[in-house]
Amino acid sequence: DLWESRGHVRFEDVTFGYSGEKTILPSFSLDIEAGQTIALVGTTGAGKSTLAKLISRFYDPTLGRVTLDGVDLRSLHPKDLRRAIVMVTQEAYLFSGTVADNIALGKPDATLDEIRAAARAVGADEFISALPDGYNSDVNKRGGRVSAGQRQLISFARAFLADPAVLILDEATASLDIPSERLIQDALQTLLADRTAIIIAHRLSTVAIADRVLVMEHGEIIEDDAPAAL
Ligand code: ATP
Ligand code: MG
Repeated sequence: DLWESRGHVRFEDVTFGYSGEKTILPSFSLDIEAGQTIALVGTTGAGKSTLAKLISRFYDPTLGRVTLDGVDLRSLHPKDLRRAIVMVTQEAYLFSGTVADNIALGKPDATLDEIRAAARAVGADEFISALPDGYNSDVNKRGGRVSAGQRQLISFARAFLADPAVLILDEATASLDIPSERLIQDALQTLLADRTAIIIAHRLSTVAIADRVLVMEHGEIIEDDAPAAL
């Protein structure tokens, strides 16, 4: 039987520092309801990426715990954890292989129909179909003939297909032209529906669609409010 997460994330008195160095998070607590979209903002070095890495278990807390549906992340089966929590990073990393393989990364048994449906959902089907070999086109590590915005859309399609209960997104800082920007924003709305999302947000338009905006400074939340209140 597959375990289905609801997507309720909690930090309970988490203290964390990278090995032997200064404390980055001092006794940090945060409750993220299932289905909420959180925009995380704050100055460089505030601890935003560190928070994301603790949720995706790149690191474990020094003290305290991070839970998913009340279960300590350390007690979850790695396979369940990988299915429940997906992180999309700034680099929107593509490996060398076809566009289809890249989208199916989190679900290797996906059919081409499922891959296309995911691409269509995030508005990526049109440009992929226009590539010389369509879904069989090769993308290399440098992105090849795929633009920065298109790379993001491919990584969104990948996340959409994986369908995690919790999505962590470190939003790209690179600026896009206005049509791409709009495409990404629409894709994001689709991607966020029906799941918990924690977005390290660099765009005002992303902050605006969040249910809750957290402002971080020196490893602490200094503001926690609806976007309209900020
Ligand atoms: P940015 O907006 O620049 O991405 P951030 O809010 O994501 O910043 P973090 O990357 O979480 O900040 O960094 C928080 C603190 O942890 C910083 O002081 C940083 O130097 C330190 N740090 C981050 N990664 C490591 C690491 N792998 N080893 C040691 N210290 C680290
Ligand atoms: Mg960061």
